[in-house]
Amino acid sequence: MGFNVAIDGPAGAGKSTIAKTVAKTMQFIYVDTGAMYRTIGFYMLRNGISVDDQEAVCAHLSEVDVTLGYEDGVQQVYLNGENVSASIRTQEVGEAASKVSAMPPVRAALLDLQRNLAKSADILMDGRDIGTVVLPDADVKIFLTASSLVRAKRRYKELVEKGADCDLLTIQKEIEERDYRDSHREIAPLKQADDAILVDSSDMTIEEVVAEIIRLIGEKRK
Ligand code: C5P
Repeated sequence: MGFNVAIDGPAGAGKSTIAKTVAKTMQFIYVDTGAMYRTIGFYMLRNGISVDDQEAVCAHLSEVDVTLGYEDGVQQVYLNGENVSASIRTQEVGEAASKVSAMPPVRAALLDLQRNLAKSADILMDGRDIGTVVLPDADVKIFLTASSLVRAKRRYKELVEKGADCDLLTIQKEIEERDYRDSHREIAPLKQADDAILVDSSDMTIEEVVAEIIRLIGEKRK
């Protein structure tokens, strides 16, 4: 078993940016589990299968093979062999991921893949249920959060920089809806594990959060 770090938290808390930097600095393999749910959501959208219809999604689940690979140390996700890493980063696919991820057969389909990745290497895995369900024995568990307004402002800034026309309050509402869905679903809801350390990044810079997480991992690794 490698050294396992679990980072969970709501959408927009900065998990992936921070996890990527920490993993690179500490030479861990970074596993972004959200990308796996996004890939399943993307497949359903692309094939016109309603992500609100659990029966339909489950009937097509066996057509989806999700695998991970690394290019220059950066995680790539493959859908039936096709690299879809760029295509899954849209708001629409995020919404679809949030819906399909509430379906038990979808979670079951990804669980073994996620656990097997953690067996052989030092990994840093981020998601919603890593510390609670996927890796309950992780060496370090972090619950990274920030207020919904701070998360909406970060997302708004990103979108404006890309030239998108958007509205802060609408983004905040979408974030709150996604949080609600992720934390109220029956299976593997988003919640802080009892033994996870809470890091609230609302008033912290990315560099400060990275330094804090590296410090927390360093303490456990001594
Ligand atoms: O983290 P990201 O925004 O890419 O995740 C997309 C969606 O996938 C989340 O809103 C959540 O519903 C789902 N997810 C999950 N469990 C994980 C990772 C992501 O349910 N471990």
